[in-house]
Amino acid sequence: MGEKRLAMPGEALAVEEEYVAGENVYEDKRGYLRSSAVGLPSYDERTKVVQVLTKKRVRLPPIGSTLFGIVSSVRSDFVTVELYGIVSLSPTVHWVAELRSAYTGLLAIWQIANEYVKDVHEFYRVGDAVLARTLSSTVPFHLTTKPPQYGVVYALCSKCLSIMEPLSPKSMRCPVCGNVEPRKVSNLASSRALHIGLKRLMAQKRW
Ligand SMILES: [Zn+2]
Repeated sequence: MGEKRLAMPGEALAVEEEYVAGENVYEDKRGYLRSSAVGLPSYDERTKVVQVLTKKRVRLPPIGSTLFGIVSSVRSDFVTVELYGIVSLSPTVHWVAELRSAYTGLLAIWQIANEYVKDVHEFYRVGDAVLARTLSSTVPFHLTTKPPQYGVVYALCSKCLSIMEPLSPKSMRCPVCGNVEPRKVSNLASSRALHIGLKRLMAQKRW
């Protein structure tokens, strides 16, 4: 793996059992770590981070940034989030920028909420769209969703796949079938500005 060969976007570089996604690398739904850019793959054997070094380094969002992402896996003690955009919360919530490549974020169980979290699935599920704040400025980003602004902003009903509506800070309700599911719900979940940006992004990514 030490050969100097350019990686292409979408190219599989490793599997998630072996490495953690670094800069310009994302984890797909099957657990492959893939390049999101053209550049030289770099494997750090000490930290087990694989990244792709590009000529033009993407400027990373600083600590304390609010990022938008999609939950890609829910483990017993942490959640991974694929991060796609930067959001500002002031003066009102709005989109700042889309990240030039998807970055991986790690949300540890103790950073999920201001309460004891026994079962992570009671707070997040794969596919949820979330707002989270960065606690680090390098990839993978460490995240928190403790403050009320952070958490799920968009989730689908597991029974009929309709878009659910916020019911309380801890639950969402499906307007079609009435199903209620637990979540760590952001108090910005019904923000129209956020949903417009989200629709645009989802159309581009063809989710
Ligand atoms: Zn439903």
